Parts: sequence; structure tokens; C-alpha cells
Amino acid sequence: MSEQEGAPSEDRRKYEFQKVIEDLKDYTGSGTQLVTIYIPPDKQISDVVAHVTQEHSEASNIKSKQTRTNVQDALKSIKDRLRYYDTFPPENGLVVFSGAVDSGGGRTDMVTEVLESPPQPIESFRYHCDDEFLTEPLEEMLGDKGLYGLIVLDRREANVGWLKGKRIEAVKSASSLVPGKQRKGGQSAQRFARLRLEAIDNFYQEVAGMADDLFVPKRHELDGILVGGPSPTKDEFLDGDYLHHELQDSVLGKFDVSYTDESGLKELVDRAQDTLAEADLMDDKSDMEEFFKELNGGNLATYGFEPTRKNLVMGSVETLLISEDLRKDIVTYECPNGHEERELVGQRADTPDHTCSECGEDAEAAERDDAIDHLMEIADQRGTDTHFISTDFEKGEQLLTAFGGIAGLLRYGTGV
Ligand SMILES: [Zn+2]
Repeated sequence: MSEQEGAPSEDRRKYEFQKVIEDLKDYTGSGTQLVTIYIPPDKQISDVVAHVTQEHSEASNIKSKQTRTNVQDALKSIKDRLRYYDTFPPENGLVVFSGAVDSGGGRTDMVTEVLESPPQPIESFRYHCDDEFLTEPLEEMLGDKGLYGLIVLDRREANVGWLKGKRIEAVKSASSLVPGKQRKGGQSAQRFARLRLEAIDNFYQEVAGMADDLFVPKRHELDGILVGGPSPTKDEFLDGDYLHHELQDSVLGKFDVSYTDESGLKELVDRAQDTLAEADLMDDKSDMEEFFKELNGGNLATYGFEPTRKNLVMGSVETLLISEDLRKDIVTYECPNGHEERELVGQRADTPDHTCSECGEDAEAAERDDAIDHLMEIADQRGTDTHFISTDFEKGEQLLTAFGGIAGLLRYGTGV
């Protein structure tokens, strides 16, 4: 909603990255000659250039003449590309890939790819030279979904923090003054027990306060809260309604963890893997539930490439649903009588011949685009949200296999 009209959506940018990464992963070098550089946003470009210059001179020691030449060519190409940047890289940093890749038959092709502003900030500078490009850090960023609140506590210590994608951030901690179970001599047992319960109650309130301060302002972005600790502490804490009422419904589960320091946050995330995987699919599942509901009795569903595209162009699609495993091209054909038709083809397939269905003339392929790019561009122009749907659940798999990987939920029931 807050996205600018016509500006590429975040999903679309992620898809662009995804495609480049898939291409880069296919490349291999015949030797250790493919260079990848991750540049964090606070790294001066001049430092990077100095590093590349240093590597260039060290590469002169490489024994194989071919590898040496290839590495030096890659580094030179990187330096050329870095000239386009000012003092610092753009927001979130830069990733540069360059090298001579095998193109079959013993020949090589020089490939240089610069990815600007990845979805998350690059955390540390990395220079990597191997027979493959280093794509894992970028893949991890793209796979990152979700924002979760984390709480671990026992009666002595508590930590709260975030799980952002796969990154765990410890934010606040507290320790309690709850006395141990052994009372000191001279203290009445009753009084001791009461003071101890009070101290526990105070501590739970303090922990809830920390969690509220952190999570309440983000409650609309929050995908859930995980609570960890030994029994019965975490149960007492949750059952006692200490958390802000708006957060209580967000608690996805409670988990046994043995540590309540920062390492406990990591333990909590490890224990909650199944719950998190389930939660990551929740949006996708509810999209598909809605689609099937409309399909079987409603009138707000459309599916398949042509019908969905027509509705998109008319501006009647509220949400475009695309299978995240859809890898197709769209070929646009024009016949001599001016009819325009499209066909969906495999990305590695040749462009097929096409006969115009209206007049029977042979049609020429006028354009060939990536299907997702093609659809998302129209969606961006029409203010349509695009949701990528995972194939990791049954209805998500069905979107790909039974509906061509493309469907839509309509704004009003006058669809095609
Ligand atoms: Zn025709």
C-alpha cells in the first residue's frame, strides 16, 4: 500500500535477485578464477579498489597462465565497474561477480554482474575466489522471511530479542532478585514464601515490560512470538497474562530451553523450527484457501496465464498469485493481420512456431520475456499486490501443477 505507484515492489526486486542468482549458480570456471566480492554499505569504494589492486598483483603468482589471465581480467573488469560508484556503495551495499565461465567446448565467456542494494545490509566485506561464484549469503537474505519476537526466561534471568529472517538479535536482558528456595534462619516460612512469590511476580512484570516495549510498536509487522524457558517458569509467565493483551494472541508456542542468556535465544529458535516453518507458510496457505473458496462457489478467482493477464490489464486483480517455482517465458506473437497472441514456454525451450488462432496465418514472435517479470510489471502499474506462493504445501503445489502457476483474486466479480 505504501509502495509508490509504478515503482518496482519489494517482491519484484527479490525476484530479480533470485533470477540473477540462479544464473550465477549455473556458471563454473575451469580453475579457481571466479571472483565474488561482498561490499557492506559502510565500506569505502576506494578501500575496495585498493584491495582489488592488491589481489591483481598477487594473482601474478598463479602458476597456470590461463587461470592467471582469467583472474586478472576479472579483477580489471571489477575495477572498471567500481568506477561508477562514489565514496560509498548504495544502500545495503554491493555484490560484484566476475570471471571467465565455461561456455562449453573448452571456450570461456567473461561474465560480470553487479547487484546493488540487496534486500538486507551486507554485514561484512568478503573477497572470494573459487571455481564457483559465492551466492549463499545472498540466497540466505532472499530466503529470509518473517519477524518474530523472542523471549527466554527463568526466575533469575531473561532475554528478549528478534528473529529477523535467520538472524537472531538479542536486544534486552534482565536478572532478578528472586531469592533461592532456601530461607535464611529466623525468617518465618510463610513470610519467606510470600516475599519470594512477590519477587517472582515483579520479575515477570519486568520481563513483560521489556517485551512490550520492544514488540508492541512492531505488532503489525510481527509474525509471532516464541517463548522459551524451563518449566514451570514459561508457563507461569504465559498463564499469568503478563504480556500486553495485543501480544498474547501472537504467541506461537512455548518451548523448553535450558539457557536463558543470549545463547538461549538461539536454542529457542532451534527448538521452534517446525513452528517457524509452519508460520512462514501461513500467508501462502491463507491466500490459497481464499483462492479455492472463490473457485468453488465465489466469483473472485481467475487462473491460468491468459485469463489472469487479461484481468490484470483491466486492473481487476486485487492479488496476483504466482508459484515461486514458475520458470517460464512469455512469447508475444504478431500475425500479418495485426492480431496479438501469447504463449507460455519453458525458459530453456526454443521459441515455437505459432499460427494465429483468429485468422490462421503464421505469426511472428515479436517479443520474449520472463513470465514473472512480464506479469509483475503489469501488476505494479495497476496497484496489484503480488504474492509468491511456496510449493511446500499441497495447495501451493496445485497452483503450479493444476493452474499453470498463475492465478489471481479479483477486486470485483466481473472477471474473465
Ligand atoms: Zn491473425
